[in-house]
Order: sequence, then structure tokens, then C-alpha cells
Amino acid sequence: MKIRVRGLSRTFVAQGRETPALLDVDLEVAAHEFVCLLGPSGCGKSTLLNIVAGFLRPTAGEVRVDERPVTGPGADRGVVFQEYVLFPWLTVVGNVEFGLKRHRATNIDRRVREALELVGLTGKEARRPAQLSGGMKQRVAIARALANSPEIILMDEPFGALDAQTREVLQDELGRIQRVEHKTVLFVTHSIREAVYLADRVIVMTSAPGRIKQVFTIKLPEVRDRFAPEFTHYESEITRVVKEEVAKVHE
Ligand code: ADP
Ligand code: MG
Repeated sequence: MKIRVRGLSRTFVAQGRETPALLDVDLEVAAHEFVCLLGPSGCGKSTLLNIVAGFLRPTAGEVRVDERPVTGPGADRGVVFQEYVLFPWLTVVGNVEFGLKRHRATNIDRRVREALELVGLTGKEARRPAQLSGGMKQRVAIARALANSPEIILMDEPFGALDAQTREVLQDELGRIQRVEHKTVLFVTHSIREAVYLADRVIVMTSAPGRIKQVFTIKLPEVRDRFAPEFTHYESEITRVVKEEVAKVHE
């Protein structure tokens, strides 16, 4: 197993009160698998992703990557967040090569060029974030993650701030990249359509404190048709399960 999450719990203390955000989560992600996490807002998706990334410590349980316990962030895990965390004063190339330079990596120019080509940003190398659309900024963030050649990519609602059309274009791009790169991906989203379009498995979490509610294995062709009856079938099945949990939040 590439990622093994066992008995994972996390409690936050706010205003002197303990709030459990995650409760006893078990999850395994195989090498090259694309897993989407779905669940109502506040159910602990980001908490789970941040623990796997090594940014946050669990209260109980553990995460293993390649059977080694995660104790902090590492070059084996690239992360992409919803907000474009780009340096505004650096060019596209400057942003993508930033981590590589800091780690004194080899072949930086080639790696940056290949990553930019993968995300379709060739020709935009000299631009600064202010000169880029939201979709392009998120392509830069993905290129930056890919340039480090991590085996695992962790994405937290990476397309959440994009308009619907741009979002689908980026989903197409990410699907294409995954067919070439075969990363192990853990991808958090609010969008059921996005999950069915991208994932090998979709994991639906309960409302807070987050646990695993149900797992769907998506048996659809590699390149998916959003209008195929089988696609719509998964969409409605998963929607039904997610809605049960969203309803609980509003009870
Ligand atoms: P999601 O990403 O599914 O929307 P989060 O993982 O961000 O959910 O949050 C899960 C729960 O943990 C929420 O109730 C949130 O308020 C709480 N939480 C998250 N981070 C912190 C923090 N740093 N301090 C206190 N509470 C937090
Ligand atoms: Mg979140």
C-alpha cells in the first residue's frame, strides 16, 4: 500500500472546548490509485489531507507512506490547495522552480520545462501571477507539485475557486496528466461530478466528526464521458449518500 491511514483521529481545542474533527479513520490508497474524498463541509477532509501531508499531527492513529510513519512534510508528497499560493513577484518559471532550487535539485531547467509542458503552460514562462487567469494559476500550482517528481499528490479542492467551464477543462487536463504520470492521488472535492470523473475510488465521509461512510469503486473507462448513463448512475448513487450526511449537518 502506498498510503496507509490507521485509526486516525484528530481533535481540535477551541475556546476551551474539545471538538473531534476526525474519528477513527482507516484508509488505504494503492500506488497509482486516484482516490477522491467527498463529504459535507467541516467533516474533516482538509484535516485528513493535512495529516497525510505531514502539516498536522493526529491525536490518535497514524499515517504510513511506503510503510514508513509520516512525521512531517516530505518531497515524496506534493500538495495543491484551492488558493493559489503563488509568489506574486516571481514568474511562472520562478514559482515552479522555487522548491527545486531550495533543495538544490539537479536538472532544474529540464524538470521545469517538462512540468510546464504537462500542464499546457509552455509559452507563458515569463508571466507573473497577476497576468494569469485563475485556471492558469492553478496550472502553475500543479506544475510546481509535479516538478518535484513526488510519487504522491495531495489536492485539496484544487479547482474549487474556478468557474464551471474552466473547472471541467482542468479536470480533463488532470485526467490526461494522470494517464501519463500515474501518480498516487488523494483528492478532496465538494463536487460529486468531479469525483466520478477523476477517481478510481470515491470515499464518502460522514458529517463531523468525519469517519468513512461508504466507498465507491468507479468502474468506468479511463477517459470518461460525463453524459454516459453509467456516469450519471454513479453520480446519483453517490449524491444520495452524500445528501444523507449533509442533511445531518442541518438537523
Ligand atoms: P472540511 O475540509 O471537510 O470542510 P476541515 O478539516 O477543514 O473540514 O475541518 C473539520 C473540523 O475541524 C471543522 O469543525 C473545523 O472547524 C475544525 N478545525 C479545522 N482546523 C482547525 C483548527 N486549526 N483549529 C480548530 N478547529 C479546526
Ligand atoms: Mg476543507
